[in-house]
Amino acid sequence: MIKESGWKIKSKEEIHDIYQFCEGYKRFLDAAKTEREAARFIEGYLAGQRFSQNAADERVFRVHKGKEVLAFVRGTKGLAEGMNIIVAHIDAPRLDLKQSPLYEDVDLGLLRTHYYGGIKKYHWVAIPLAIHGVVVKTDGRVIDIVIGEKEDDPVFIIDDLLPHLSRKTQDEKTLSNAIDGEKLCLLFGSLHLVGEEKESIKRGILKLLYDQYDIAEDDFISAELEVVPAFKARDVGIDRSMIGAYGQDDRVCAYAILEAIARTARPERSCLAIFVDKEEIGSEGNTSMKSNVLQIFLYDILEGMKIKADEVLVRRMLFSSKALSGDVNGALNPTYQEVHEKQNACFLGRGVSISKYTGHGGKSGASDAHAEYVGEIRRIFSKEKIIWQAGELGKIDEGGGGTVAKYLAEYGMDIIDCGPALLTMHSPFEISSKLDVYETFRAFSAFFKS
Ligand code: MN
Ligand code: MN
Repeated sequence: MIKESGWKIKSKEEIHDIYQFCEGYKRFLDAAKTEREAARFIEGYLAGQRFSQNAADERVFRVHKGKEVLAFVRGTKGLAEGMNIIVAHIDAPRLDLKQSPLYEDVDLGLLRTHYYGGIKKYHWVAIPLAIHGVVVKTDGRVIDIVIGEKEDDPVFIIDDLLPHLSRKTQDEKTLSNAIDGEKLCLLFGSLHLVGEEKESIKRGILKLLYDQYDIAEDDFISAELEVVPAFKARDVGIDRSMIGAYGQDDRVCAYAILEAIARTARPERSCLAIFVDKEEIGSEGNTSMKSNVLQIFLYDILEGMKIKADEVLVRRMLFSSKALSGDVNGALNPTYQEVHEKQNACFLGRGVSISKYTGHGGKSGASDAHAEYVGEIRRIFSKEKIIWQAGELGKIDEGGGGTVAKYLAEYGMDIIDCGPALLTMHSPFEISSKLDVYETFRAFSAFFKS
């Protein structure tokens, strides 16, 4: 553990390696702006790293509903001794289109949205936005949509009030009340369909959607269309030491796990990587950490190994496992230092951080790792000379947060929160330190090996 910036102790060659690693990370961020795109990227990557769908193989993966991925590497020790598990979530805060989104008003066509996860609504107005997702037709056909990513694609925007007119409506309200959820409507078009008297803009848009994408108005009902920032991951800082991008919470850990499991071969203990959905809305639903997908996957693994897959064995495997909940932390904000307790805060550039516990004031809702387990993690990290720090999220009564750790802890395994700290977390453009991204990857690799 260090109490100063990790950059100070990295050589020129090491800094070069860190920057190289982050080029791959940025490509992942650009290719994976939704949970479906992340799952698809991970699936393709694993397939290229000798992982297969065949549960009898030593490297096995499964994709669940296109939104969740599990990857397993068989160890030399017996499965009853447990696994080394690392989990990250691949969903991120965003705006979802409503099931009946399209309307026209004051000569403009607009789309209504319902936000997903913990956003600050003022972040989402007056920035270029893209639409990603799927539309499912009644005959089962799935139409993939990505609009706003290519250089010559149109983008979308949520109109904000001009300062000249916002005094009563916005400026005198509290920040969280200034923009109403129902006002997060996307500017979508303004041409009229010739010959139409009523709702000619809406009809014009629907005709265009039908001609170009084979989408009818009712098809929005069976669609998942996500509105995300239209910009790409970029280096931040004159020295390019940081990365700015949408969705780094928690695709930074997902990428680090992916690179770590891909390089893990014939470990002693079996390794399991879990890329899970729906963390940002409380891990609800059948692609979340609260679902039974993990058990079903482990039954498959056991059957593939010609071992009778019974509930008792799976429970014992999970009970004897040890895990990292790979998720981000909030880094000490340089200009709002007062919300942190500096002695226990995470600093950008001081390496991967571990949080013994999460939760809100009084550790409410926390996952609290045992001291013995924290000691073991310290031992693993120090053996591999990982640059790491220990920290909690903000001052005790300032707020707080949680991760999926507590849902895995229910099986009886040891688990601790571990990941890089971000600035402007949960904004459309989150900031990470390249050093922290790289050390997270190194920490996860060391854990899989342990
Ligand atoms: Mn997270
Ligand atoms: Mn989050």
